[in-house]
Amino acid sequence: MIRKVSIFGSTGSIGCNTVDLVKRKPEAYRVVAMTGGRNVAKLASQAKALKAEVAVTAYEDCLEPLREALSGSGIEVAAGEAALCEAAERPADWIMSAIVGAAGLPPGLKALEQGTTLALANKESLVTAGALLKSTAAASGARILPVDSEHSAVFQGLVGENIADVERVIITASGGAFRDWPLEKLAAATPAEASSHPNWDMGQRITIDSATMFNKALELIETHEFFDISPDRIEAIVHPESLVHALVGFRDGALMAHVGPPDMRHAIGYALNWPLRDHLPVERLNLAEIGQLTFREPDAARYPALAQARWVMEEGGLAGAVFNAAKERALDGFIEGRIGFLDMASVVADVIEIMSGEGLGLAAITLDSVQQADQEARMRADAVIAVRQR
Ligand code: NAD
Ligand code: MG
Repeated sequence: MIRKVSIFGSTGSIGCNTVDLVKRKPEAYRVVAMTGGRNVAKLASQAKALKAEVAVTAYEDCLEPLREALSGSGIEVAAGEAALCEAAERPADWIMSAIVGAAGLPPGLKALEQGTTLALANKESLVTAGALLKSTAAASGARILPVDSEHSAVFQGLVGENIADVERVIITASGGAFRDWPLEKLAAATPAEASSHPNWDMGQRITIDSATMFNKALELIETHEFFDISPDRIEAIVHPESLVHALVGFRDGALMAHVGPPDMRHAIGYALNWPLRDHLPVERLNLAEIGQLTFREPDAARYPALAQARWVMEEGGLAGAVFNAAKERALDGFIEGRIGFLDMASVVADVIEIMSGEGLGLAAITLDSVQQADQEARMRADAVIAVRQR
């Protein structure tokens, strides 16, 4: 049976890997929507290659260039946030959510409302609005499948298991670009230095988030939301080789580890083929050649983001939206050269301190309340950044 698929954020790192897998089996899929940002030429060539029904750019001022690039192709074009949501409403059997940041939430929700299978790479939507995503999926009968490598690994480790038997979940972290740098050098680290990952080839934002471990912080929260596992049972461990992606510990003491090459096409392909498995074009590991796998405790002083994630999980409610938004603005500030590498965690800490008295944990999670908390946290973060910049 031909499956209808849509790829949100198709021009990004996860998006391109998804396109690669879909392209390998053209007879199996019909592509409905593909979306991107300012990279109009790439979006247009992807849409042509996969014969998409519609191509959507997130930015209104990119509509004309996209129209031009696709003229004569018969592919519809559209632009803007509302167009992204409209594209997410178009019936599809499988939808990849791979927009980066909180912008992925509205189309992700629309996709869930139509009762589809949502392959979720956009961890920010679970962190900011986990309860809303889950209730929307429950109401429509939609299913959310994890695409983050650690969460795909946990998901695979739970097949056939009873969640009540799970004692702990351990997700691994590479430690990012600066894992071996002396602490005193970190303050001067540049965006270019932070944008190169030792093991994974990913978008710039998540790569820098790996160096600060904001990515792992988001993933701890994502684990809590996705699997409904209490925070005290979730751990992160540094594993520089990035070959073990996660481990699930059961009450009989067994630890089931998921081992594989650092290639996102595994997790994407698992979600695409689920509940079956199919051949995937990823490297087969030669364990004898690898020789050894190492693990160590993450250094709390080096990675304050991990403790901040614990606060988010304890607080609940809108704390995730505030944390993620403050993080996104701090990251913008670092990329733009306005604050230093270590300032990112301090900016987030300041925003948490300012907003933690506002009853975040008690608030209801609606798209409106999440977007309001997100906006307020961005404003607060900008104010903190402006002061630090001087
Ligand atoms: P990327 O920056 O490479 O691509 C992001 C995509 O989102 C692009 O298509 C871009 O055009 C689009 N986009 C950017 N801003 C947008 C906006 N405001 N509105 C609509 N579209 C917008 O990012 P990525 O590395 O592919 O990551 C995508 C998501 O997947 C993120 O949530 C990330 O945390 C998650 N993820 C990525 C990886 C990875 O290996 N890259 C691994 C695990 C999880
Ligand atoms: Mg991950």
